[in-house]
Amino acid sequence: MSDKKGPAAAAARGGGVRIFGATWVLPIVSDPIHKGAVAVEGDSIKAVGKAEEMTAAFPDAEVTDFHHAIVMPGFVNCHSHVEYAVFRGIMDNKNFGPWILEFLDHKGKLSHDDYVVSAMLGASECVSSGLTTSADSMYSGASLGAIVQAGLRARVYQEVFGLDDNKLDDTMSQLIDKINELEENTGDLIEVGIAPHATYTVSASLYRAVAELARERGMKITTHLAESRAESVYIRSGSGILALDFREKVGWDYLSHEPFGVTPVKYLQQWNVFGPGFLAAHCVHVTPADIEALARYDVAIAHCPKSNAKLGCGIAPLPAFLHAGIRVGFGTDSPASSNIMDMFGEMRTAIFLHRGVERDAAVLGAAECVQMATLGGARALGMEDRIGSLEPGKQADIIAVDMEYSHFTPIHDPYSALVFGANQEDIFFTMVAGRPLYTRKVLLTMDEEEITKKAREVKEKLWQ
Ligand SMILES: [Zn+2]
Repeated sequence: MSDKKGPAAAAARGGGVRIFGATWVLPIVSDPIHKGAVAVEGDSIKAVGKAEEMTAAFPDAEVTDFHHAIVMPGFVNCHSHVEYAVFRGIMDNKNFGPWILEFLDHKGKLSHDDYVVSAMLGASECVSSGLTTSADSMYSGASLGAIVQAGLRARVYQEVFGLDDNKLDDTMSQLIDKINELEENTGDLIEVGIAPHATYTVSASLYRAVAELARERGMKITTHLAESRAESVYIRSGSGILALDFREKVGWDYLSHEPFGVTPVKYLQQWNVFGPGFLAAHCVHVTPADIEALARYDVAIAHCPKSNAKLGCGIAPLPAFLHAGIRVGFGTDSPASSNIMDMFGEMRTAIFLHRGVERDAAVLGAAECVQMATLGGARALGMEDRIGSLEPGKQADIIAVDMEYSHFTPIHDPYSALVFGANQEDIFFTMVAGRPLYTRKVLLTMDEEEITKKAREVKEKLWQ
């Protein structure tokens, strides 16, 4: 491939068909194609099929043959916090309650500039891990710039907190200011959403005000829901570490608090905030009635198996969600809880946990996991018309996974190879909207060395 004819140059020109071929191509909506290829024109997919058919159909196209690789749609990460990338590895052996208390201490040690560095580190990891779309919750304001610079697709949710209803009007006006500012700085690939943080940090009135604002402006909402036992205890009986230590630490201990006597899901359902644009992260501590309610209101779920297991929260009942017809995608959650944003790790953790708990290997299949990590995630975010599969007319969000290594040999089923054998390091090509962001394991949109150097400096502050 000459310099003049490279994919980056073609993207810059915005013209010409480019063909990307590999041993396996996974359209997701149809069977894997052996010796397949995907044809891209501008920012979208033009055709998918056998490599020989693609080259015959587009004889003037530039052809990139990835050889022994799997070409597939980029992963859709339904729950992340890229701004917390530098927090990885510092609270690795704590249960959720003590973990979130310590997290508050660490969060206060960093400046806005530090969060910029952290978000750049997180966004660069998304690119190199093939996470082409993220539903990213953000408080500092740093993530949007990092995601834009990386060239990723995202819905960036502005986080909002508040239990004191005397401050509700101020909280809402600050939220609206932040959203207005964010919306001025998004490109074609970014949407802005709202993230009322969780049932123990957001009052019912604030949830309702956010839901109303979202309806008015046509925005989507995400929240952390039914994540920990501590949250269930707090909502049901008004006690436990979130009612006492957490409220004291945040400075909310002057507020009266009543036990609500219900589950976290039921609690939100009572305030009329659910709907198809509502994405609930976690949903570990849910009853059959909760699952029925989530299905009825068409709430989507971000399943975060690694984060939930690591913080001792438990295992969300994924098979029951799928059985109820709930839209579910995987979320890596933040590196503060799950250390690395590796969709292969999420898929593998999910399949092992659910097969182990159910004592049944039929409970979740490798192909089903890959579908959830791509098109399933797109459906959960309401973006399935644009992304999640390799189909003509969809956006060219494409990744390639290297299959050269011994741990993949020999490949019989590419889905099994991905779920049981691959890791984030095996990604060597990432493209979003027809623009290559990562080729031959080199970041094209960010200075990886500089980001790593600065991130190490920021990390030093956390240990002080
Ligand atoms: Zn989270």
